[in-house]
Amino acid sequence: MTDSLLRVCRTCGRYTLSPNCPVDHSETRTPHPVRFSPQDRWGKYRRALQAEPGS
Ligand SMILES: [Zn+2]
Repeated sequence: MTDSLLRVCRTCGRYTLSPNCPVDHSETRTPHPVRFSPQDRWGKYRRALQAEPGS
């Protein structure tokens, strides 16, 4: 997974592969840990809407 190697600076938002920003040397983090699928995410709201009594 090459995505897990990509990191983003917490200060300037620069993308890098280093655990520290090459510009300001601050700590970087993973930009968006994808642990869930978007379908599951919206499926929760969709099911909530369907659970409401209609008309
Ligand atoms: Zn930075």
